[in-house]
Amino acid sequence: MKHLQVGHNTVTTAWSPPASGPRHSTHGCRRCVALAREFIVLNLFFFFSIGDEQHIQYLREALLEAAKCTPTPTAFCVGCVLVARYPANATQQPHVLAKGYSRELPGNTHAEANALTKARQLSPEHLSEMFPTSAENDKPTIDDVLKHTDVYTTLEPCSVRTSGLAPCADTLIAANVPRCFIGVGEPDDFVQCEGAQRLKAAGCQVIWLKGLEEECLTAARRGRQE
Ligand SMILES: [Zn+2]
Repeated sequence: MKHLQVGHNTVTTAWSPPASGPRHSTHGCRRCVALAREFIVLNLFFFFSIGDEQHIQYLREALLEAAKCTPTPTAFCVGCVLVARYPANATQQPHVLAKGYSRELPGNTHAEANALTKARQLSPEHLSEMFPTSAENDKPTIDDVLKHTDVYTTLEPCSVRTSGLAPCADTLIAANVPRCFIGVGEPDDFVQCEGAQRLKAAGCQVIWLKGLEEECLTAARRGRQE
């Protein structure tokens, strides 16, 4: 087995060097080098393809959340899914920690903030069930888990709230989430959004997912163009 470090991820391949037999000199024969290169490229291709598919799947889940919003002429309909990869290692299966949508909770609330509020409402028992650890005194807190939780949101997190409430970008930064996957940028229908820029400046990795931009935008403006 061989482990390749790709960003924060480790790719495990079935390739291993021959234990015995004739050894090539350190410069390697051209054919072996070409084969090894081809093998690595293929593995990376599959790794990223599978990864992308999974990200799109979570964004689709966020779109299902957006569909639950009660439309209003003065705000967008947004869906958000929080996916925990805790502890951060390649073998840990991702867990959907919480989901949220615009105006789901009382008080003109937004999808990302609602998902975070719901994640914080999870009981310690629920968290321990989701992320079992062998050590009794090493139970994860929600703050620990959020540090390893990716955000999937149909629309760029807001940076300005005309209502005076905290913008979602600031709420996500305060939660220390490492990555934010976004379906589409916020159009300037209401305000000029600088959410992605603000997240990046705070050290949160922003990833613009490709392929569902139209769906995300249509979902966002639902109830306003009809
Ligand atoms: Zn917001």
